[in-house]
Amino acid sequence: MAKKPQKTYQELLKRSYLELIQGYCDKGYKLAKYGSVKELGQKYDLYKIVIDPKARKTLLITAGFHGEETKSPISLLQIFDDIVRYANEMRVRLIVYPCINPFGFETGRRYSPSTPRGMGNNDFMRYEIEPDKWVGILKENEPSLSCRIVDSKAREVSLLKHDVLEYRVPEAVLDIHQQKGYLETGETFAYIFDRRPTYKRIMKKVGKIAKIARNEDNPLKDKGREIPSRIDNDGFIEIHDGSITDMFYCLGSIFAVTCETKTDLPLEKVCQINLIWAKDLIKLIAKRK
Ligand SMILES: [Zn+2]
Repeated sequence: MAKKPQKTYQELLKRSYLELIQGYCDKGYKLAKYGSVKELGQKYDLYKIVIDPKARKTLLITAGFHGEETKSPISLLQIFDDIVRYANEMRVRLIVYPCINPFGFETGRRYSPSTPRGMGNNDFMRYEIEPDKWVGILKENEPSLSCRIVDSKAREVSLLKHDVLEYRVPEAVLDIHQQKGYLETGETFAYIFDRRPTYKRIMKKVGKIAKIARNEDNPLKDKGREIPSRIDNDGFIEIHDGSITDMFYCLGSIFAVTCETKTDLPLEKVCQINLIWAKDLIKLIAKRK
């Protein structure tokens, strides 16, 4: 019988959500359902994968919050065997949500219809900046009185939030995103909260794969509030943006990174960059006493 030809990257980019999930089954991974959503009459079951559940330390990986960032879930599937092999070797548990927003993935739309207008879906926290005045993103060095975790109106994110908070706080979190459009100075950057020297060493490796964006404005909006934000000279944005990484950072995760690649960067490079972040985070937590 003729051998099935390998899919080209171009074909891989046209995958449906079920094909993506099937891709993990084909590689022999066991997926667990944590909920389902119905969007415009179409039902999507939501899945996660847990590798080495008894290992003492955990890397949480999330992909596919934003539908137009298709190479986020696709690259994760491509590099998954390598990540698992390394995590097993380093005795690190992986908790992986391979495609958070299936409707977005299939339609190329950033948000699912259940996401309220003007609100992002990577929306996990509120900060109190004045008594009873709550915002979703803090400006640089903006003090806050308190913070709280909030539920999400985006159904797929609400289900994720409830599920992921059942676990103890992971030592490291990697949220895989992409940037569409206005990135002008490079092809990749990352959101961090601290530990700059450590992440700079990782970024140096990333810089061998693609050009790092530097010194570029990346303004954000939070329910009508303009948030000045800038990719700095090292290719990082340090901002409390209320995202899943921010939530876990505030809950005590030691390492929390959101990696970004331009949507038009070839899949092969996106894979290489995301693999660097995943493996280096595994190594960092495995080394800690
Ligand atoms: Zn994104």
